[in-house]
Amino acid sequence: MRNTRSLLSAFFLLFGSASAFLPLRPMWGSTSSPHPDSSSFSLHLRAALTQLQMSKEDPPKIIISGAPASGKGTQCEIIKEKFGVVHLSTGDMLRAAVAAGTEVGKLAKDYMDNGKLVPDNVIIGIVKDRLAEPDCIEKGWLLDGFPRTAAQAEALEEAGVKADCFLFLNVPDSVLVERVVGRRTDPQTGKIYHMKFSPPEDETILQRLEQRSDDTEEKVMVRLEQFHANEDAVKGKYADISVAIDGNRAPSDVSAAVLAAIASSKAKV
Ligand code: ADP
Repeated sequence: MRNTRSLLSAFFLLFGSASAFLPLRPMWGSTSSPHPDSSSFSLHLRAALTQLQMSKEDPPKIIISGAPASGKGTQCEIIKEKFGVVHLSTGDMLRAAVAAGTEVGKLAKDYMDNGKLVPDNVIIGIVKDRLAEPDCIEKGWLLDGFPRTAAQAEALEEAGVKADCFLFLNVPDSVLVERVVGRRTDPQTGKIYHMKFSPPEDETILQRLEQRSDDTEEKVMVRLEQFHANEDAVKGKYADISVAIDGNRAPSDVSAAVLAAIASSKAKV
């Protein structure tokens, strides 16, 4: 009974979510037909189960890359929800380590406060260990902010970690600087606002907003410099699975392109 129920929910889950971005045909054949066509139904059931099997055995493995404030965080929320993958943001992992005062946090703090990259040997081990955990293996993963250097990409390769696609969000530097300096976070909900483009309507929320210590004009210049110094080397490692996406438009337009790119990369796997 439990199996039947989970099979059915998997079926509806697939048609409910996958139909938004996969080229699946309507479930009952012709939309004008008042009754389900049983042969078409079983065909679709088989297709859905094959897809379920495939996704279980080979869950999505995605890398998202882009300059600071290129919109990776917003897109990651959407990808996570659509595909159920584990979101691994190295920036968030490092900030948590700093806040918890761990050895890694102590090593990383000064680099982060100055907008510099944390040394490869500090971050590589953490990411490799995390990717080997059962949830990442079972659900797939979304790497956000890693790899940021050629050495980090090589470390993944040596560990046998292979992604299905490498998404790159393109946004001009001038736009990025404006996005960064106005960016604020609500510490209670984690929601990100922008003082000019998307300020909170609620005065209480406005009062409690926090600014990341590296979200100043001076530090974003250093972060952009570091990003561009490594950009070509990292992109070069993923030329065969790379998809460039224009990130300088409405988040919903960006996410439509992002989801289409992931779906087509899975179709090739
Ligand atoms: P950004 O929007 O600047 O890319 P993140 O939250 O991703 O912000 O990262 C914040 C900081 O964490 C970076 O400026 C850097 O100091 C450190 N960091 C995150 N990921 C890495 C990485 N893969 N390699 C080295 N340092 C990293």
